[in-house]
Amino acid sequence: VDTCPTGAITEPGPGRGLTSAHRPAATRTTCGYCGVGCALDVITSDAEVTAVLPARDGPVNQGHACVKGRFAHGYLTSSERLTRPLLRRHGRLESVGWDEALGHVARGLREAADTGGPDTVAAISSARATNEENYLVQKFMRVVIGTNNVDNCSRLCHSPSAAGLTASFGLSGGTDSFDDVERSDCLLVVGANPVEAHPVVGARLLRRVLRGAKLVVADPRAVGLALHADVHLRPRPGTNVALFHGLAHVLLAEGLTDEEFLRERATGLPELVELLDDYPPDRVADVTGVPAADLVAAARLYGRAGRPAIVYGLGVTEHLHGTDGVRSLANLAILRGAVGSDRGHGVNPLRGQNNVQGASDMGALPDLLPGYGKVTDPAVRSRAEAVWGVQVPERPGMRIPDMFAAARAGELRALWVIGEDVCATDPDANRVAEALDACPLVVCNELFLSETARHADVVLPVASWLEKDGTFVNFDRRFQRVRPAVPPPGEARSDFDVVRALAALMGADLDCSAPADALAECGRVAPVFAGLSHERLDREGAVPWPCPDPGRPGQAKLYAERFATPDGRAHLASAPYLPPGETPDDDYPLVLVTGRRWAHYNSGSMTRRGGNLALDPVDFLDLHPDDAARYGVRDGAQVGVESRHGRARLIARISEQTATGQAFCSFHFPASGVNRLTSDHADTVTSCPEYKVTAVRVTVG
Ligand code: SF4
Repeated sequence: VDTCPTGAITEPGPGRGLTSAHRPAATRTTCGYCGVGCALDVITSDAEVTAVLPARDGPVNQGHACVKGRFAHGYLTSSERLTRPLLRRHGRLESVGWDEALGHVARGLREAADTGGPDTVAAISSARATNEENYLVQKFMRVVIGTNNVDNCSRLCHSPSAAGLTASFGLSGGTDSFDDVERSDCLLVVGANPVEAHPVVGARLLRRVLRGAKLVVADPRAVGLALHADVHLRPRPGTNVALFHGLAHVLLAEGLTDEEFLRERATGLPELVELLDDYPPDRVADVTGVPAADLVAAARLYGRAGRPAIVYGLGVTEHLHGTDGVRSLANLAILRGAVGSDRGHGVNPLRGQNNVQGASDMGALPDLLPGYGKVTDPAVRSRAEAVWGVQVPERPGMRIPDMFAAARAGELRALWVIGEDVCATDPDANRVAEALDACPLVVCNELFLSETARHADVVLPVASWLEKDGTFVNFDRRFQRVRPAVPPPGEARSDFDVVRALAALMGADLDCSAPADALAECGRVAPVFAGLSHERLDREGAVPWPCPDPGRPGQAKLYAERFATPDGRAHLASAPYLPPGETPDDDYPLVLVTGRRWAHYNSGSMTRRGGNLALDPVDFLDLHPDDAARYGVRDGAQVGVESRHGRARLIARISEQTATGQAFCSFHFPASGVNRLTSDHADTVTSCPEYKVTAVRVTVG
């Protein structure tokens, strides 16, 4: 659309004819869909968005944007947008004013905390919200309520990355900037489908491969990049740890490790060498289904490259042993000396939602304060206490699954869900709905009457990313500005304003009168953010963290001198392969993997209402032709899918993209009920759900 020289392809709707070469005055902001963080120029007319154009000088996107960021903005003016608060009376949600709604919430939270104690109140903050909003939500819970019961949806996607990368290298983020990754001569892309889920990154990776970089893809499905791979490894879902140990075994056996790096900068080698004895290629082939020759070929490509890089996604993290997966993947970079050095570009997670990195950076986590200091550490608490002027509770709070379990057990009296449709996106969705129904007060900040909002007692209408002010952090740790292009509809307010107003009603002043103040205050609590400010971002565009000094650039590439672990070394992990939580059997013979489609985002609440419905109108169930024949399924037929936990209905799509014995679907349409299928198995370290392995059967008719 942007460059078509003949005009044969044009922008749909009122932005027709606009290209980046011909654009009127625009609002520069950052895309609110995925974690790539594309800079966008938003064109408006009469307070309505007429076009969204990719910024030519966007630090990450360099003039590109995908079908979501560019075209899925129709939801802004959807007639289904919530414009007034809703309060449940006599079992029905009724429209009320803000004073009444917030008064009800304030009284409810105070009563819950006074009666059951502060730990009977919890909040789920949002990876869609800005950093400043996340900062304020966690401050509200710690300062006004007096609990660490705050978590965000990174729990459901990249919490194993945070835990694994911190344990291996010291900080909770990718090790290199994407600009560096793009200079790699060998890309190892694992458990990710960037062509669909992070399209601008997918396009940049593909461009690199077309220019000569080697590519190894490790993914059970024939994802887009796999078509261009030198080697495509297709492990059975749930066998990643064995696969990564197999690759490490070959690196060691063939002398493809960096001995000086291992001696000077790493620890844990003897234990790993002993463990890897058990992972020769033949044995790994038995466990993973990956032919031994392919495993060896992949290890040689990665091991012999001059500057290899690892990029990975939720196919590594959303497992029963997701943290072990991240750590055993990080082992490869350490063995190769390809992290924190000029001999490679590290280990880099592709973050899912737009601000999932930032929500955790800001301390919307039950055990960590802003900047990842532990709440159990007195020195960390006292730094926050000096800024906030109150004692910070010492006991870590509940994670999201614990909140639901506590609600079902009658131990949670109030839950505030901010911008997450937990009834659609969290696993074992029937049990999530039970939890909300059991909790005496459920408050929900939302754009639409989502599945979760339908179970709430109070629904507060809030602004979306095109209507608010603040910052996001993208997948390679860059802070970028978010600016309002249009006003929110009706009486909707930003989450920032809602948190402040609620605190004021409860007799507390959160001090930050504007988002810029919140980021500045966060820098006083967390020194790694001390060099950041809205003013600096307005001037410089994008600044990565760590950034402790306003006069110096942030660190795009980490660990050049030393790792951020207590001993300054990279830590090799020696966790054995353990099987997944679910295994197929005669009753449930297929393994279901869930993930994303290119046109939609998360529960689809914005993309389904934004014009992208025409591109991808339903949740499909992808099946291999052999399985389709075995179960009598025709392409396009409606099928039932049953797991040990629930049922869903989907449209079958027959494709060799999915391996035999496996099925794939997205969860963008809550009505299809995909997350009623998924189990409550979760990563043993972080409680991240095992979305990637569910045993199912398919029924026709
Ligand atoms: Fe860029 Fe992701 Fe937005 Fe697409 S969804 S425009 S890739 S940030």
